[in-house]
Amino acid sequence: PMPVLAVVGRPNVGKSTLVNRIIGRREAVVEDKPGVTRDRVSYEATWNGRRFKVLDTGGWEIDVLGLDAMVAAQAELGIETADAVLFVVDANVGATDTDEALIKIIRRAGKPTVLCANKVDGQSTEVEATYLWSLGLGEPYPVSALHGRGSGDLLDAVMAAL
Ligand code: GDP
Ligand code: MG
Repeated sequence: PMPVLAVVGRPNVGKSTLVNRIIGRREAVVEDKPGVTRDRVSYEATWNGRRFKVLDTGGWEIDVLGLDAMVAAQAELGIETADAVLFVVDANVGATDTDEALIKIIRRAGKPTVLCANKVDGQSTEVEATYLWSLGLGEPYPVSALHGRGSGDLLDAVMAAL
């Protein structure tokens, strides 16, 4: 079976944009506001000739719960079935309490994890990514999911983890 990558993170950090970047198509729905219903969360991708599945964990709507509980539940669902986790943080915002809560869930699952510092659109914001070393998830990969910047290095790290 194909290895599975779960893309995990708070609403609005750019998970769906990153999923589209990884699969090379615009299929995951990108929204300015969090919590939008999507009917598909699983996509197929190829990198360096290897095929894998990508889960956009923001794609499940579990709106009976409060926002933080919903985000946690979505992450847990995705991580459960995944071989590796791609944890996405908005580098311009930095780590929030919700990010810390998600990291606890990821740690508990014990799956190999790659840290994406997203929304690093230019060199001037690259320093923001380095602050994310403090999360204890290893090297933060500075990426602009929107423009593609850094996505090659990120995918190389993902493939090493899968
Ligand atoms: P999700 O809720 O985590 O799936 O986030 P989305 O992919 O829906 O993106 C939320 C918002 O962030 C949208 O307005 C995106 O266009 C924007 N966004 C995503 N990635 C980037 C990026 O690398 N740079 C910038 N400037 N904006 C981004
Ligand atoms: Mg999304």
